[in-house]
Amino acid sequence: MPDESFLRWPFFEDRHRDFASRLKDFAADLDVSHDDVDAACRTLVRRLGEAGWLRAVAPAAYGGEGDGYDVRTLCLARETLAYRDGLADFAFAMQGLGTGPVTLFGSDDLKRRILPGVVAGARIAAFALSEPEAGSDVAALATTARIDGGEAILDGEKTWISNGGIADHYVVFARTGEAPGARGLSAFLVEADNPGLRVEERIDVIAPHPLARLRFEGCRVPLAHRIGEPGAGFKVAMATLDVFRSTVGAAALGFARRALDEALERARTRHLFGAPMGELPLTQAALAEMATDVDASALLVYRAAWTKDMGAPRVTREAAMAKMVATESAQTVIDKAVQIFGGLGVAKGVPVEALYREIRALRIYEGATEVQKIVIARETLKGAGG
Ligand SMILES: Cc1cc2nc3c(=O)[nH]c(=O)nc-3n(C[C@H](O)[C@H](O)[C@H](O)COP(=O)(O)OP(=O)(O)OC[C@H]3O[C@@H](n4cnc5c(N)ncnc54)[C@H](O)[C@@H]3O)c2cc1C
Repeated sequence: MPDESFLRWPFFEDRHRDFASRLKDFAADLDVSHDDVDAACRTLVRRLGEAGWLRAVAPAAYGGEGDGYDVRTLCLARETLAYRDGLADFAFAMQGLGTGPVTLFGSDDLKRRILPGVVAGARIAAFALSEPEAGSDVAALATTARIDGGEAILDGEKTWISNGGIADHYVVFARTGEAPGARGLSAFLVEADNPGLRVEERIDVIAPHPLARLRFEGCRVPLAHRIGEPGAGFKVAMATLDVFRSTVGAAALGFARRALDEALERARTRHLFGAPMGELPLTQAALAEMATDVDASALLVYRAAWTKDMGAPRVTREAAMAKMVATESAQTVIDKAVQIFGGLGVAKGVPVEALYREIRALRIYEGATEVQKIVIARETLKGAGG
């Protein structure tokens, strides 16, 4: 039985507790086969949309709820879904990340065109920032967007794009050259059926989900599909990540909490040397460390979410800490769970084996741990007047 005592923490209101409880029931009944990840994702997005859960990713005026993001709700959604099914969490998360720039900076027309379908689960979203030579180093981005009359013409390559191949639209960041480096980028919404866009390669990873390398060649996009001001692409990307980075920590927390619960059950039921494993001091030490890591991560994740919801313009430092600690410690928690399961821990189909694969990429995407350290150090030095 998952520990839900954290929901009584002062970060939450009754609406959050109600949301988490209803989503937990919904997630418990989600039983979507992962044999075909594209089909699974489409089904999960549709079911999340039909049941109203995707309302959390857009404002009420465009089919969602509230005035803007409630980051605590986004985090609770990701934690709850990740606890049950990594792909369900992924499907939810990408609907948010792949529309974040539109919600935060898009024109009213663009919001009307995109958001209702995303909320309904009828339109699949993607966020295309990374390139073969520009991952951690966003300023090295080489895809260009040349303005030609009322259009931008995109040329270049994006890789590691989640939902690549099944998305209905991509939010694409390209160099428009207003200034050098990160200050010369702009964001554009590109429909998947644009003849200048093709899926060059599908990428298979250890925890499979739709992922692709994309090629843009003479890809013409109406300037009305530019998101935010010309040259403001980096700001658009960072403001979006400022909302969604804590939610990566929340997903890691969901995986870690599931691993802890699996380990507790195993420790209670598996007998070693004539007694339940849970009576062995070394098993108890592992469980104590796992439980403490889970609570520490939850405190950082929901501190960041609460701070944003209370109106902080940016939570760069808090979100970076939440993402770094929650993803790194989830890896450790899951590894300990695998160890407690012994040989069974690495057998395909056992939940801790899947969690072991699911967690790994979270320490890399949306800013690898090393990048979070740089961000935390910079913000901390700034705070100290350095
Ligand atoms: C499963 C998955 C899904 C993804 N989905 C998306 C998506 O939807 N959209 C998108 O745009 N991108 C996506 N990405 C890309 C992801 O954001 C990048 O992989 C990430 O930013 C790292 O970039 P890179 O892979 O080019 O690694 P590199 O930039 O080459 O970095 C390699 C490693 O160097 C280390 N490092 C980084 N900076 C420093 C430093 N300053 N000092 C020391 N070490 C450092 C880190 O450990 C890093 O992992 C996804 C990636 C994965 C794996």
